[in-house]
Amino acid sequence: MRKILFLLSLSFAQQIHAQSYKKIHDKAIVVDTHNDILMRAVDLGIAFDQDLTGTTHSDLARWKKGGLDVQVFSVFCEGDEKNPFAYANREMDTLDAIVKRNPDKIAEVKNYAELLKAVKQHKMAAMFGVEGGHMIEDDLNKLDVLYKRGARYLTLTHNISPSWATSAADETSGKQLPHKGLTDFGRQVILRMNQLGMMIDVSHVGDKTFWDVIHLSTKPVIASHSSVYSLVPHRRNLKDEQIKAIAKNGGVIQINFNPGFIDSTFDKKEIAFLKEHASENDSLIKSGMNDFYALDYLYRKHADEAKSMRPALSMLIDHIDYVVKLVGVDYAGIGSDFDGINLTPLQMNDVSDYPLITKSLVERGYSKRDIDKILGGNFLRVLKANENK
Ligand SMILES: [Zn+2]
Repeated sequence: MRKILFLLSLSFAQQIHAQSYKKIHDKAIVVDTHNDILMRAVDLGIAFDQDLTGTTHSDLARWKKGGLDVQVFSVFCEGDEKNPFAYANREMDTLDAIVKRNPDKIAEVKNYAELLKAVKQHKMAAMFGVEGGHMIEDDLNKLDVLYKRGARYLTLTHNISPSWATSAADETSGKQLPHKGLTDFGRQVILRMNQLGMMIDVSHVGDKTFWDVIHLSTKPVIASHSSVYSLVPHRRNLKDEQIKAIAKNGGVIQINFNPGFIDSTFDKKEIAFLKEHASENDSLIKSGMNDFYALDYLYRKHADEAKSMRPALSMLIDHIDYVVKLVGVDYAGIGSDFDGINLTPLQMNDVSDYPLITKSLVERGYSKRDIDKILGGNFLRVLKANENK
């Protein structure tokens, strides 16, 4: 009898728990600051107002299902693209077209007030974040044009460096670089971004660039999609001193879901996988695919192997937890990198799975107030702080 009572009470407690996390998730303003679907849309000619389940991580219906209120769309092209500024505009045109066709579901917003209005109307608020300083082609006027079109952050570098700031990839490559950190023009970019009210994104930048920015920026910065170096020593992750500096600056660290950034055993597994399928990979690259799409193809084809490599969801939550324990609950958020990564953590199959993050945070004892901050409140604070009144 006692055992039956115990089981009954347990299932009741579980029900309460299930209801409470869903409620918390629904009521929160949930923000993701990094998604690469625009790159896939332009590269592959796909429209994400269609059901793309099984093809991409993201589409309008699955964002809705995942309770996402705000998506910052990454505007990205590789460093060897001949006309990066034109390419950036083409990606922005793609989102404009989606919004025009679906005005009841999604709205482009350029500031905090417009964002809140869209959320109140139950539309997903969409912003742009330009990923890579190379896309302004060494021209402050082009930075202004991107800002006017709605870009609200610029990731100063991608893996390649523009002429005016060095990336983490280049700074750690051992190559002889003509300079490290920001040049004079790089400093002008920072000042102009502060003036415009455009957030500076330090994801992808090298340590020297990072510290130059922290000393120069008069406004809080973001890391739109980076995780924790102490847990996974990857050049794309942030060291404790950097996390502390971002907190002191009033900024926010939006944790990346990339298995290679959240699980220290993953990179070895990926190297072994690529070795195993080397001839197939070579033939895909010879047929014209770049590394990213070739790997995407291989993971789909060898789905069981791919699944066995994916880290547990708890490892992603560990990175959020780490930032919170190091500097407090006001400096962590979500920057998934969905559709810019080949694999995701288990259970985080696509954008419909954000509620499982909330569930995990509830299970780890986070309060509703703290969860609201992590899901979006912290980013909104930084957005507001960057705006010119
Ligand atoms: Zn990136």
